[in-house]
Amino acid sequence: MHELGITRSIVDIAERTAREHGGNRVTSVTVEIGALSGVIPDAVEFCFEACSKGTLLDGARLIVESIPGLGRCPDCGREQEIDNHSFACGDCGALGLERLRGEELRVKELEVD
Ligand SMILES: [Zn+2]
Repeated sequence: MHELGITRSIVDIAERTAREHGGNRVTSVTVEIGALSGVIPDAVEFCFEACSKGTLLDGARLIVESIPGLGRCPDCGREQEIDNHSFACGDCGALGLERLRGEELRVKELEVD
């Protein structure tokens, strides 16, 4: 499960950022996870408590904001919501949708004490 490593990185980034701002404790962390990032939000939530134990994030609330995938058809230009299994345009059937959004994985916000 690669979410364990990803969750560790999230905790690392949040901890480093909190330290840089002189925080002693992180009370909540907001992460954006795109539908096309290949990361399963539930799995990150599952790993978070174990990964945050003994860090500045111990007891912090994890808020996951899911970003839906958005793609554009190379032929007709139609924009549509897509997931990792979408390859064809829903209108004209053209293949190779351009990915506009949904590959995000980042720490968006921290609340620090
Ligand atoms: Zn199309």
